[in-house]
Amino acid sequence: MANKTALVISAHSADFVWRCGGAIALHGKRGYDVTVVCLSYGERGESAKLWKASDATLEGVKAARRTEAENAARALGVADIQFFDCGDYPLELDREAKFRLVDVIRKVQPAFMLSHSLDDPYNTDHPYATKVALETRMVAQAWGHEPGQTVLGAPQLYLFEPHQTEQCGWKPDTILDITEVWEAKKAAIECMEGQQHLWHYYTNVAENRANQFRRNSGGQAGGREAKYAEAFQSIFPRTVDEL
Ligand SMILES: [Zn+2]
Repeated sequence: MANKTALVISAHSADFVWRCGGAIALHGKRGYDVTVVCLSYGERGESAKLWKASDATLEGVKAARRTEAENAARALGVADIQFFDCGDYPLELDREAKFRLVDVIRKVQPAFMLSHSLDDPYNTDHPYATKVALETRMVAQAWGHEPGQTVLGAPQLYLFEPHQTEQCGWKPDTILDITEVWEAKKAAIECMEGQQHLWHYYTNVAENRANQFRRNSGGQAGGREAKYAEAFQSIFPRTVDEL
């Protein structure tokens, strides 16, 4: 039987590392084939350190970001990483690029998808990527789009954690213990040499979410001793047989 699959839609080439690197590594370890689509390299907006070199060029920055993302993907056990190179600040996908993403979604047939928060006043590329994720998920479900292809079921879309949660209206309803794969996430974070100012910050985020994991899984005494966690907000209702 084919492996289970998951799909991450990342606005910029590093977002998937900070925000769901643990989920990627954990599901990879559990036998999932995880595909990551980077809609842009974050070459203009999220590569400040690289631009400080006097000989920096757009192509050079994109190449450096791609290498970092590929190294991080390897550290996390990503099955496939694809770069759409749609440009950032602002990120924009034309109809052709959206259909290319629909093709990826239908090919992967993810059990679940991951993307950004629905809002982010600091970085409009992020909610734009989510809007595209929802739009392409919808098209991938449509029987009238490329009839004959296997249509998409109804995978959950989990929104991963933005940089400043309150401003983004993001409220987690799912906390994932990533302690057993923390070393992989840490290694992936350290591939992002252009954004060293975020390394410590996202270690902190993972520790705080682990504290909340413990609080919500029965308290420090009864709960599992999670040291690192990631939090997500789900878009769609869960369908269950028992509460
Ligand atoms: Zn980003």
